[in-house]
This record gives sequence, structure tokens and C-alpha cells, in this order.
Amino acid sequence: MAFRPLSWFLGLFSLDIGIDLGTANTLVNVRGKGIVLNEPSWVVLDKKTKIPVKVGLQAKEMVGRTPATHIAVRPLRDGVISEYDVTKEMISYFLSKAHQMSIVPLPQPRVVIGIPSGATKVEKKAVYDAAHEAGARETYLIEEPMAAALGAGLPVTEIIGSMMVDIGGGTTEVAVISMFGVVVSRSLRVAGDELDQDIITYIRNKYNLLIGERMAEQVKITIGSAYPLPNEKTMNVRGRNLVTGLPEELEVSSVEIREAISGSVQVIVDTVKDALDEAPPEIVADLIENGVCLAGGGALLLGLKERLMDEVNLRVWVAEDPLTCVARGAGMVLEDLDKFENLLVDVD
Ligand code: ADP
Ligand code: MG
Repeated sequence: MAFRPLSWFLGLFSLDIGIDLGTANTLVNVRGKGIVLNEPSWVVLDKKTKIPVKVGLQAKEMVGRTPATHIAVRPLRDGVISEYDVTKEMISYFLSKAHQMSIVPLPQPRVVIGIPSGATKVEKKAVYDAAHEAGARETYLIEEPMAAALGAGLPVTEIIGSMMVDIGGGTTEVAVISMFGVVVSRSLRVAGDELDQDIITYIRNKYNLLIGERMAEQVKITIGSAYPLPNEKTMNVRGRNLVTGLPEELEVSSVEIREAISGSVQVIVDTVKDALDEAPPEIVADLIENGVCLAGGGALLLGLKERLMDEVNLRVWVAEDPLTCVARGAGMVLEDLDKFENLLVDVD
């Protein structure tokens, strides 16, 4: 029988879990099974006791509809842990749900968690401690753009430059990567949520119509764009007229919504340019060949690829299944912790 290291035997009885703790969505990737969970990063709390009553999908469904006794929160809204206890509860909920899915009762899992590259020491420690308290046996952290790059199949371990732009809900992460390392990085708190807010503001100012966040997100996903569309679109929005106080429905066009979000889109584009400006020339030369990879939900914004291509003069492409890149990357790290050790973040 071939020699097997101890870790191989232990691996048979342990659970390896990669988590993308996103500001908008949390994904759980179980080794050998793939992505078993993909739920919004929302928690509904009892206002008095602060005890979570709903987590994930069920919590998001209650947003904007909670009774006065409860409050819906996104503990990672800005890409950082704003509410430690709630984050801990959320991680523990997702870990236990992943556990329930395994056939045999397994010991505490090993966990790799993606964190925003802009996270401070205190925030990193908070995620680490939260995972530990939630039952993880070993916890490793990886910067989200690095995990996204791995998941997207960029050559992060090679002596060649590549660039990842991960546009999530709360943050946009830009990273130029080469040889296991981040050469240039930018973490920006302008991403999907900000575009939703832009749409709310625009419709309120132009039509005196107040729409909710979920309606704004629908508008963005359906007709939002960063570049003129071959066929411009329209859709109906519903909200409350601020003058009459009555419910109202009206039609908005993709041209209007493009104008509404143009400021924030420009900020994202400028951040990509800025990172390129700072990249060493050899790496820029590599990027001419490899292009710029987009991931995260924001990568799906219509015309964003075309807009960036126009502005940075490089080939821009959207990763396959851009919403799952970080979770898939975290899973790849678990497959070979020794190889990817250099990609992990030190907690202290
Ligand atoms: P995070 O990593 O921060 O959790 P995600 O990568 O899951 O974020 O992306 C969520 C964001 O992507 C949300 O703001 C969502 O509205 C946005 N999004 C999802 N699909 C689309 C789409 N088709 N067009 C534009 N934005 C989208
Ligand atoms: Mg993300």
C-alpha cells in the first residue's frame, strides 16, 4: 500500500469548507460536494433581545416588511464586520447548515474564508474569531480578489501579471496579481449597493417617486447599463409618490438609469485605471495579453465590459459564473493548502 500522510486519513473524517462571506451573498463550498449554499448575507434580529430570528434567504425576504419589533441587517454591508455578534451568528448558521447536509456526523470543519482586501487587522481578527467561535477547527483567511482570481482560473501562481476586478454589493476590489502576490490593490466602497442608491435618488428627484431598495436592485439588474445598449429598454417601477402620498407606477428607460448610475460607474472605472497606472510596466505588458477579468455580481451589469474596454484599452472579460469565483477559489485552496499557503492572510 502506498504511503499516505496522516493528513490524508484525517481528511477522510473532516469537513473542509470554503466560505465567501460577501457583503451581499454568502456562499459555502464543501470539499467534494461543491457549492452547497448560496444565500443573501442578511439577518433579521429581535430588536429587544438582539437574537437573530432569521438568517439568509428567509431574512432577505423580510427586508422592508419587518414588524416594528424586528430589524433586518446586513452585518457586512460595507465589506467589513459592522456587527460582530451578528456576523458570528451568521457564520455559525451557514456552518451548521453545511453540516446538516453531510451524511455522517463530522468533527469541526477546516474553513477558508474570503475577506475584503481593505479589511483592517481588527476586522480580520473579528472574522477569524467569529469562525472559531462558530465551531471551525482551523480557520484560514484569503483576500477576496485573490480567491476570485483563483476561482476564475487566472495564473496567480505564475510569473505573469493578471488583473481581477471583483464588483460585489458593498465593495469593489481591484487587484493586480503575480506569483502568489498582490502587486497593486484597491478596495473601494462603491459597488452594487451604491448603484441601487443612485437609482432611488434619481427616481425620487425626477419623479417624486420613492422606491424601495429591492425595487431599485431589480431596475439595475433588468435595465441598468454602463454603455449604450443596441436596443434600449424600459420597465415599470412602483413606489410612493412623495407629493400625493399615494402609490404610483411609472415607466423608466435604460437611458435614464444609465445616467442615474453614471457617476458611480465612473468611480469604478477610474479605480481600475488608477490601479493600472500603478502597475509596473512588465506587468502592464502581460495584461495586454491576458486582459482584465471581471467577477462578482457587478460584472453582470450590462455594457460594463464594453465601457471598461473603451476606457482602459485592454481586453476585458467576465469570469465564468462570476458570482461564485470567490467560493470556488476558497475551495481550491482547501484542495491544496500546502501549495496555496502563500496566498493566505496572517491574522496577527
Ligand atoms: P458580494 O460579494 O459583496 O456579496 P456579489 O458578488 O454576490 O456581492 O454581488 C452582489 C451584487 O451584484 C449586488 O449588488 C447585486 O445587485 C449585483 N448584481 C447581481 N446580478 C446583477 C446583474 N445581472 N446586473 C447588475 N448587477 C447585478
Ligand atoms: Mg464578493
